[in-house]
Amino acid sequence: MSFSAMTKAEMARVMPRKRCCQIAELTAIIGMDGTVKGGAHGEPALIMSSQSAPVARKIYKLCKLLLQPLAIQVAVTKKPNLKKRNVYHVLIPYQSGAREAFAPLGLSFAGEGWQVNWRPIALEKRCCQKAYLRGAFLGGGSVNDPEGTYHLEMITRDPVHSQTICEVMSFFDLSPRISERKQYHVVYLKESDQIVQFLNVAGAHRALLEFESTRVVKDMRNRVNRLVNCETANLSKTVDTGVRQVEMIRLLEEKMGLEKLPLPLREIARLRLEFPDASLRELGQMLDPPIGKSGANHRLRKLEEMAKELEVGQGRK
Ligand SMILES: [Zn+2]
Repeated sequence: MSFSAMTKAEMARVMPRKRCCQIAELTAIIGMDGTVKGGAHGEPALIMSSQSAPVARKIYKLCKLLLQPLAIQVAVTKKPNLKKRNVYHVLIPYQSGAREAFAPLGLSFAGEGWQVNWRPIALEKRCCQKAYLRGAFLGGGSVNDPEGTYHLEMITRDPVHSQTICEVMSFFDLSPRISERKQYHVVYLKESDQIVQFLNVAGAHRALLEFESTRVVKDMRNRVNRLVNCETANLSKTVDTGVRQVEMIRLLEEKMGLEKLPLPLREIARLRLEFPDASLRELGQMLDPPIGKSGANHRLRKLEEMAKELEVGQGRK
């Protein structure tokens, strides 16, 4: 099961006890997934679809609780694409009494058809706001596996609904962004802290723990990789420097002989030839008396200057 499906299944199991929250959650689901059709006799029909069986079960339960005594049906179809996944539908067919039953969900009859007011009446209370965000995620949300790039989104065709989702998210210190994808409005979060906060608000605590532990391991792995890269860079720098210095000392040896060098330079030249991979600090420590990194650097620079002069002198010949 994908991380997203697991998160949805967990949120689907959270059943709000209070009626105000049940309404908020079902309204959000209708806003994402529901298709409301005007009935022949002025009564609406409602179809809510999901690829997740736990989500469909939750929608059915919420409808049973909120839309009694309307008849509610369930159907399963296969997606027409290659994977042929199941799609679960909760249907409320045309029937009398629907008008009254739908009113608390923000559905009202206006002249020639039904109008939908996705903004539920009860978004003032904290409990309902949480239920509303959970419903929005169940209806049209997905979240990337934290192993990959951090991303959580909710998709709706309704621009008002996408605005409402953003507004409610802002009550929980979340700052989502909206992008347009064809006829859809995508509300999304990119920062891992924000995604964790959303999962917390929507009641997906197991998904939150898994997200957090994956994130910690990933961060640590990145940090170790950075350190290793840095060490490797330092190491190859030391080796390159050593190789260059050995070449220049060999030149001096060949052209003038190391015994002609002043003692401090001769000593470090011999050590360098013997330990081409040693760092400047290590070379300095091997001298008697030992000297620091900058002292060793100074002596080697002197040797380098002398080698350069020799080369230039040769070039003139
Ligand atoms: Zn409530």
